[in-house]
Amino acid sequence: RELRSDQLLELARRAVALGRSAATTGEVTTKIPRLAAVDRSAFGLAVTTVDGAELGVGDSTAQFSLQSLTKLFALVALLRVEPGAWMHVGWAPTELGYGSVTELERAAGRPRNPFVNAGALIVTDRLLHHTGSAVDTVAALICDLSGDPAVASDAAVSASEAAADHRNRALAHVLAEHGRLLNDVDAVLAHYYAQCAITGSALGMARAGRFLADRRLHEQVLDSDNVRRINAVLLTSGMYGAAGDIAYRVGLPAKSGVGGGVLAALPGVGTVCAWSPPLDAEGNSVGGVAAIEEFARTSGWSVF
Ligand code: GLN
Repeated sequence: RELRSDQLLELARRAVALGRSAATTGEVTTKIPRLAAVDRSAFGLAVTTVDGAELGVGDSTAQFSLQSLTKLFALVALLRVEPGAWMHVGWAPTELGYGSVTELERAAGRPRNPFVNAGALIVTDRLLHHTGSAVDTVAALICDLSGDPAVASDAAVSASEAAADHRNRALAHVLAEHGRLLNDVDAVLAHYYAQCAITGSALGMARAGRFLADRRLHEQVLDSDNVRRINAVLLTSGMYGAAGDIAYRVGLPAKSGVGGGVLAALPGVGTVCAWSPPLDAEGNSVGGVAAIEEFARTSGWSVF
């Protein structure tokens, strides 16, 4: 059913109220020490529709650390320059979460998909190879799609992750051991941390994700076959080990990041992005998922 803007706004407000109370049970990430300083009570939600409606509730224009939300845009940027890149990153779901070294080891260094960290490192590596700078290419694409000139990589967040990280280093070395990287390991990691440290707002991300929903934008951003595939892999892998739970509860292709952002899309209808820093054990925003679940339920948004 078609909802008017004022009806969507009312549903978004109610979803935020529910998300805010759910967020109290989560924990802000400790893996990137700099992100621990973020206000845990911040909450933003934004919705865009293919009909041109746009709305924001709460902190919807505040900049936050996009982290793994950037993996979606890095994949788009790579597919534009290397249409055959899927064969390097795969498209199978993960059972073991986004940072599993075990899963990568068992598969002889072949990542499961472009959204687990191993696959995202491959995407960053290949973008670096093709464009000369993965972080600049991804930041420029997000800037362009969101129309938000404030989008930029936060050097303090990037340095904080670089200083504290062991797991991505381990994954990158396993990839290198299996001959899957084109660049030096340290260069790939530096671009990966900087790419994850790109900032954006909930409203900017809802706008940037519009190509997932609006078929009229497909040919401008990426060809329709690839947009369909990306939506499929977001549904099965965008929320890592929780993807099945999210498909059941929400029913939308979605991508999360440890900065607390969650972006979901309903092809043909619109996008919704929530930001709330406290996370669950999978690294997904507790309040963000709860708010999107409520919004999807009350608006009738579902791919099923
Ligand atoms: N930079 C983070 C990491 O590599 C991104 C993970 C995430 O947002 N899920 O651990």
